[in-house]
Amino acid sequence: MKELRNRQQIQIGDRIFEKYLNRDTIRARIQELGREISIDYRDKDPLFVIVLNGAFMFAADLLRATSLECELQFVKLSSYSGTSSTGQVKQIIGLPETLKARHVIIVEDIVDTGKTIMSMITDLAAHDPASVSIATLLLKPDCLLFELESTYVGFEIPDAFVIGYGLDLDGRARNLCDIYQVVS
Ligand code: 5GP
Repeated sequence: MKELRNRQQIQIGDRIFEKYLNRDTIRARIQELGREISIDYRDKDPLFVIVLNGAFMFAADLLRATSLECELQFVKLSSYSGTSSTGQVKQIIGLPETLKARHVIIVEDIVDTGKTIMSMITDLAAHDPASVSIATLLLKPDCLLFELESTYVGFEIPDAFVIGYGLDLDGRARNLCDIYQVVS
């Protein structure tokens, strides 16, 4: 990874990315989301279902921004390879034994077409939870193919590939503290 133009751009392989959301902006928005979720889920003992790998950094900050008695569970699935969607949605691995009557909040890094999240919601619904909502750091409204209800959104962003703050390019760049958008 090479930094260019006063750290406003980085190069990974032959791709150039430009800084799009800086860490302070991200932190401030997550604090707001945390406060909102804390009010909505007071006394509901929610279960945060955190989708690995992309949501690990967002989840760590979001959960610390809440003041809730809650549980969390990491799950795994993946639908992306490189910078274009494969359209494949895999199964959820690692769900708790029972979700019956639980208030579930799925924590995602990004919702693009919405296929991944819709397939998760369908899977979770089969476990009879009390409710299912979504907390996603990023949403690409122009790509969304479904109506999403009960969604906490950090930022709505245009249809361009982003990396950093948990989001990867072929497994790399997740450790960047800021979010970068592809330039070329
Ligand atoms: P969807 O099923 O909503 O089309 O895609 C969701 C998944 O695709 C996300 O969980 C994420 O792994 C990946 N994804 C979608 N857009 C981007 C992007 O701009 N950057 C990165 N790094 N991953 C993305």
